[in-house]
Parts: sequence; C-alpha cells; structure tokens
Amino acid sequence: MSEMLDARHAVYVGSFDPPTLGHRDIISRGAGLFRHVTVGVGINPDKSPLFSSGERLNLLREIVAPLENVAVECFEGLAVDFVRQCGASVMLRGMRTLTDIESEFTLTLANRSLAPDIETVFLMASEQYTSVSSSLIKQIAGMGREGSVNQLAEFVPESVIEPLLSKYRE
Ligand code: ADP
Repeated sequence: MSEMLDARHAVYVGSFDPPTLGHRDIISRGAGLFRHVTVGVGINPDKSPLFSSGERLNLLREIVAPLENVAVECFEGLAVDFVRQCGASVMLRGMRTLTDIESEFTLTLANRSLAPDIETVFLMASEQYTSVSSSLIKQIAGMGREGSVNQLAEFVPESVIEPLLSKYRE
C-alpha cells in the first residue's frame, strides 16, 4: 500500500467488446490530460465476449496508434489491482448519461474501499457518443444487413467495422 503511485498516469479499464468511438473519445481526452494512459482490457472468465481478449487488444492498439502516450494491456482480476500494477493512482471512467452515474457511483465507492489511494476520474464523451454502447453495436451488426456498415460507422472506428461484421458471417 505504501508504494508511490503516479498521479500523472491514468488507467482506463473496460470490456471494449468491441471498442467504440465513445471509448476512443474518452481515451484521447485522457491522453490530453495525463502524461500516460494505459487502457486495460478486462478478461472476465465468467463472460463470453464476442471478441477474444487478444482481438480486443489488437483492435484497441490500432485505434490508439496515433496517441504516443497511450498503451494497451490485458488484465485479469480486480481493476484496482491492475491500476496499482501499472504504478498509476488514477482510474479513468467514461460517463454517458445520468443512469451511468448510478452504477459508476456504486463501483467507485467499492473501488475506493478496496484501494483508498486510487482516485477515480470521470470524463464525459462528446455529445454525439452519448447513446453509443458496445451492446447496441452488437445488436446492429447482428441484424446482418450489409447496409448496417453506414450505421456502424457512426459508432465504431473504421478498423472495427469489418472484424465486427465478419463475426456475424461466421
Ligand atoms: P464495462 O463492461 O466495464 O462497462 P465498457 O467497455 O463498456 O466496459 O466501458 C468502459 C468505460 O467506458 C466505462 O467507464 C463506460 O462508462 C465508458 N463508456 C462506454 N461507452 C461510452 C461512451 N459512449 N461515452 C463515454 N463513456 C463510455
């Protein structure tokens, strides 16, 4: 508990199944505020994600390639433990709506009791990403219409579209 954690280093954890424009927006805002940002792709053995952790890692690495102070890693276990392993003292979270606040509030209090020396910082994405979620994107892609390419382009980075559609062709 007594090691020095870096307040200029923020860790942004999530499932990123798949990464969205909302996630990218939060990452680039974080990269503008902190000296270093680590994106942590959570591996949850109880969930069966659409994209494997390796696929999510690669998609995110491509998305953050233009940002030189951002790295992407996978992690298992508690997010606060991963933040500590990174040597960071900031956990970055994104906010969409008022309903996000309720669940984030509970999570933040739980994380604070587990790790009082790690501070959670919330950033708001740009307004046009307020309704963007990974689950919405999977619903659109799952409808299987090739015409969904145009809709998907509003929600996910270009590089995610083809891998996403190919999941539903398999
Ligand atoms: P989780 O499964 O942990 O919710 P997500 O990958 O869905 O992981 O989200 C990770 C973080 O990004 C969370 O803080 C979430 O609120 C935030 N987030 C997700 N989508 C958006 C968005 N469109 N705008 C802003 N923040 C977002």
